[in-house]
Amino acid sequence: MPAALSNWEGQLLNKRPFFQQDCRLCGRYRGRDGLCDGCRAMLPALAGPLCPVCAEPQAVALPDGAPCGRCQRQRPAFDALFAPYRYDYPLAELIHHYKYGRALGDGALLASLLAEFADRTGGSADLVIPVPLAKERLAERGFNQSDALARTLAAIIGGAFSPRLCWRKRNTARQASLDLAARRRNLADAFGVEPGLHGLCVAIVDDVASSGSTLSALASALKKRGAKRVDAWVLARAIFPKT
Ligand SMILES: [Zn+2]
Ligand SMILES: [Zn+2]
Repeated sequence: MPAALSNWEGQLLNKRPFFQQDCRLCGRYRGRDGLCDGCRAMLPALAGPLCPVCAEPQAVALPDGAPCGRCQRQRPAFDALFAPYRYDYPLAELIHHYKYGRALGDGALLASLLAEFADRTGGSADLVIPVPLAKERLAERGFNQSDALARTLAAIIGGAFSPRLCWRKRNTARQASLDLAARRRNLADAFGVEPGLHGLCVAIVDDVASSGSTLSALASALKKRGAKRVDAWVLARAIFPKT
């Protein structure tokens, strides 16, 4: 084990098998789980200070861990969002390639990036749930891109990987095509959840958080079933320019 590896990294590598593969981004070098050191260094880290609820970067940290203005006006239903990266080049390309190219190696790489972050950050949950896709979307894509992330997260923070605990009730319109108010209307009551979550801590997992409204809608449905705490874990958080 090279001395340069930090403690947590060493622990992670000892726990988890990894593979030296051709870099999935540049194709020129080999690297751990298919990402060379140069491309790994280019990943867009989500840097602080961050809102303790929604992880939006702040110009300055608010005192006493106060949330950002937007969360103060309208608090999301999840308790906290954790994300290692911004949704930006070159990670956005990797995620896109995974979703639409269905290469399993991409999924393993993205899951390892979330695992490294979770190992650093710590956290715990009783249940780990991938954000479900609508049936139609699942049929079209063939798989839920969040499953691999959620399964790996469950192995790191503990908790049972529970992919069948909740589902989309109907085919919601594509969120990306709607404005914020329309997104909320579109999502109200979009998720069904099995009963019996009383007092449990739940982690919900997705590849990307854009407005956070999907995660908030799912968190709200889980809390209605008794979940005590819901944390959202995503690989990448979209950052919108301030208007
Ligand atoms: Zn590379
Ligand atoms: Zn916030």
